[in-house]
Amino acid sequence: VTRVDVLVIGAGQAGLATGYHLRATGLTFMIVDAGGRVGDSWRRRYRSLTLFTPRQFSGLPGMAMPGNREQYPTRDEFADYLESYAASFRLPVRTEAQVLRLGRNADGSFEAILASGDRIQAGAVVVAAGGFQLPLVPPVAKGFSDDVMQLTADSYRDPTQIAEGRVLVVGDGASGRDIAAELAPLRETWLATGKPRRLFPERILGKSVWWWLGLTGLLRASPESFLGRMLRKNDAFPDRERGMDSLKRLGVRIVGRLTNAGGSNATFGDGHGADVRTVIWAVGYRDNTGWVQIAEATDQAGAFRHSEGVSPVHGLYFVGRPWQRNRASALVMGAGPDALLIVGRIKEALRK
Ligand SMILES: Cc1cc2nc3c(=O)[nH]c(=O)nc-3n(C[C@H](O)[C@H](O)[C@H](O)COP(=O)(O)OP(=O)(O)OC[C@H]3O[C@@H](n4cnc5c(N)ncnc54)[C@H](O)[C@@H]3O)c2cc1C
Repeated sequence: VTRVDVLVIGAGQAGLATGYHLRATGLTFMIVDAGGRVGDSWRRRYRSLTLFTPRQFSGLPGMAMPGNREQYPTRDEFADYLESYAASFRLPVRTEAQVLRLGRNADGSFEAILASGDRIQAGAVVVAAGGFQLPLVPPVAKGFSDDVMQLTADSYRDPTQIAEGRVLVVGDGASGRDIAAELAPLRETWLATGKPRRLFPERILGKSVWWWLGLTGLLRASPESFLGRMLRKNDAFPDRERGMDSLKRLGVRIVGRLTNAGGSNATFGDGHGADVRTVIWAVGYRDNTGWVQIAEATDQAGAFRHSEGVSPVHGLYFVGRPWQRNRASALVMGAGPDALLIVGRIKEALRK
């Protein structure tokens, strides 16, 4: 059994930012991650992914991302940045260490059981396991027959996976639009849309839209505030050639919501219909919470309970939850400020 003051679960940006702030406290801690290498949560995503936040808004505390500040880092570049961040600050990261079960002892301390069978005991735990874990696949998917290949935005890597024939991408968020744009020159590509979205312009008066969102306080607006509710409803992202007109120019056929699937046939809310060979679901994610086996930690629906990252379970915390405090919470730029607050709360709690 290993004993530490604080166990951080997940070594993505949220876990690493937490580690950065924990270093200054004198508390003993360890960061565990299921992956083989720091940054793997990014390396697993589709190959052509570039971040939608420029480098100046894609850094963690204490170390800016190298390179042109106005431009967007690639997936692998950001993954490597996380890896060098962990190395630079000598953060105690243990990879290939998946927590299968997190429980609580009678004395209030926590015990994590790893896939290897090892046990780690801690006075406080920060769950930094990511907010976008399990891709959602809606029930309508069952209507497609076996000869329709079904992927998700998570299992899609690059066009070499995709059979000849028509492709349907379901979901017009950032990933769905990227994937449709990438496939359109190679396959007949249809994009089924959801709620209407208005994208942010990429730059306004020579500045990145993220700069303006920061200046105007939008990124720090709480989820319940007027501005926060507006942001949540829109769920906008910057328009880097991903508006509907740009997609149409690339040859993407835009259709309404997918309403029915039967055999290889898909029908849409706007009356269109087509036979498809491949379907790529890009309709969002749900959480994986089952491994946290502490009754009060989750609600009846199985979602983590917390207020600004503080669980009702004494000593349990979160960093990186979507809308934990604001829009930035699930973005790279929000990890540092949220982690700083949580580390402050941990110091108070462990002193008692
Ligand atoms: C396609 C996509 C594109 C995005 N692009 C951007 C962008 O451009 N800019 C931006 O700011 N944000 C972006 N985001 C949002 C966010 O920054 C990322 O989701 C980011 O990966 C979140 O970091 P994280 O540290 O919270 O979680 P993750 O990066 O998911 O890291 C969590 C880590 O926890 C580990 N883990 C999980 N469960 C366990 C367990 N039980 N035991 C041990 N380890 C575990 C995982 O292995 C993983 O390494 C994007 C998200 C997605 C899905």
